[in-house]
Amino acid sequence: MFYLQGAGVGSGIAIGTAYVIQQSVVGAAMRRVGKDQLAREIARLESALKSTSANLEKVRQEVPDNAPKEIAAFLDAHILMVNDPTLHEATAKIIQEDQFCAESALTMHRNQLAEVFENMEDEYLRSKQGDVDQVIQQIHHQLLIHESSDSIDSNDNLDGCILVAHDLTPADTVQFMKMKMSAFVTNLGSPISHVAILAGSLKMPAVVGLHGAVRHIAHGATIAVDADTGSVIVNPDAATLAKLAVRREEHARLQTELLALRDVEPLTLDGEQTSLLANVELPEDVEYAQQSGAMGVGLYRTEYLYMNRVHLPTEEEQFQAYVHVVKSLKRVTIRTLDLGADKQVDGGRKQGNVAINPALGLRAVRLCLRSLGTFRAQLRAIYRASAFGEVQCMIPMLSNLDELKQVMSVIDEVKRELDSEHVVYDPTVKIGGMIEVPAAAITADQFAEQLDFLSIGTNDLIQYTLAIDRVDDEVNYLYDPLHTSILRLVKNVIDAGSKHGKSVSLCGEMASDPKYTRLLLGLGLRVFSMDPGAIPQIKQVIRNSDVGRTGEYISEIMDCADASRRVRLLQRLNSDSVEAASVN
Ligand code: PEP
Ligand code: MG
Repeated sequence: MFYLQGAGVGSGIAIGTAYVIQQSVVGAAMRRVGKDQLAREIARLESALKSTSANLEKVRQEVPDNAPKEIAAFLDAHILMVNDPTLHEATAKIIQEDQFCAESALTMHRNQLAEVFENMEDEYLRSKQGDVDQVIQQIHHQLLIHESSDSIDSNDNLDGCILVAHDLTPADTVQFMKMKMSAFVTNLGSPISHVAILAGSLKMPAVVGLHGAVRHIAHGATIAVDADTGSVIVNPDAATLAKLAVRREEHARLQTELLALRDVEPLTLDGEQTSLLANVELPEDVEYAQQSGAMGVGLYRTEYLYMNRVHLPTEEEQFQAYVHVVKSLKRVTIRTLDLGADKQVDGGRKQGNVAINPALGLRAVRLCLRSLGTFRAQLRAIYRASAFGEVQCMIPMLSNLDELKQVMSVIDEVKRELDSEHVVYDPTVKIGGMIEVPAAAITADQFAEQLDFLSIGTNDLIQYTLAIDRVDDEVNYLYDPLHTSILRLVKNVIDAGSKHGKSVSLCGEMASDPKYTRLLLGLGLRVFSMDPGAIPQIKQVIRNSDVGRTGEYISEIMDCADASRRVRLLQRLNSDSVEAASVN
């Protein structure tokens, strides 16, 4: 038995058999296959080599005569590499002799070549490793496009298994969880990465950022994943299993106790009314939101409908999904597509050029304004769904008012189009914006003037303000919702909302962490949107808080330049109680 430590996400404990997926440097799954599948894997390799070669030939023919000579030479070199018989022979040999799938064998051959290149004296020749990688990547791309030899064997029964992987994309997670795994563990990832957020909505414990998980955990080993402590216990002994069973029972008891709060009002001790809303990712999440006592949906992350599929969802399909949510919960805030960065439709495997800083790239509203056809179809679906309940439309990642102006003009067009088709919709759908880019948070008053409501996305706001990639666990330690800059920005947005009489909610992970509930109440926040599982606990904190008593703590925390003192002050705020004060 041994312990491994990472960062816990979701809550609870899962015990099960580890299903380990190995990943290589170039991202392919290292998977062995049965003897009966070797011929199929070799055929897949051959067909991928053929289509890569054909693609390159086609591009080569299309090179204009006036293009710089290097381009044609570069393509010729790549064509030679793909057609080099040794590439085929060496990779097929690995498949045949070591029984790896085509992707894995290709990666292993690439690694053998890389070793040769690394030992070359000549710097120019050494640099050619980059070309080899590009070619290999193109072949991988073809393997995935045509017929993915998925990293999970579809014949395996994964019920109750715990997935252990180097990294997972949100698209992978949705896919894998359909296979009813009970938890997951990853080498990479941070608690506010989208894949971690999804663990919450899938009601499963997970541990991310556990370096070496794939190396240290053997496929088939019994492991326990403890999301509350962020630890993974490999081959737990009988005594440990018994202790874990007690904790699981305790966890279940607490959940039942908290669920008893489902129908009570989220009122503070001094009578302040709050709204507790759910963040949902998939239409199926509404049931969980209802069970948790959500008063509506504050954030519907619609991009998940776009993942793991060959074609984009049609307007009709989106409409049906939205209607399902709208009919189940009153007041639903549908966020328009927030694809890009770590949320790629296919987990990023089939994309072409990869932006160097995808979080700063063509993402969310920027992508929608670039792909107007897709954006219009989604807006039509949102407006059509508004005939079935109270719908609000929310735009992610706004950074300037010009973007908002463009969005409003697309919305006007869509409304005119629906009018001309005599389609019924609610013409008063409120349009809100996510405030998650520092530029928008600083100028929140301007956004508040133009929009019907604002919602603070602290996950991205913290990422962009503190310059920490939210998916990079190496800089995870810098994630600090208590940083003075964050507190000032959050306060600025809340104040801007009250100045213009507009509602302000907070839908980042900060809203679901009970540590920050009183602080946010003190800053003036009244609308919290979170993972449904967190609602009962946040309600409990709200019902035990007296907003009137938070004032002096808040100004001290806001003025405090020392990070560890801010933490102590927050602890004091959280342990403050009317009873304690009357004893003092
Ligand atoms: C956020 O950025 O805080 C947010 C809620 O949006 P997402 O996590 O989907 O980027
Ligand atoms: Mg965001």
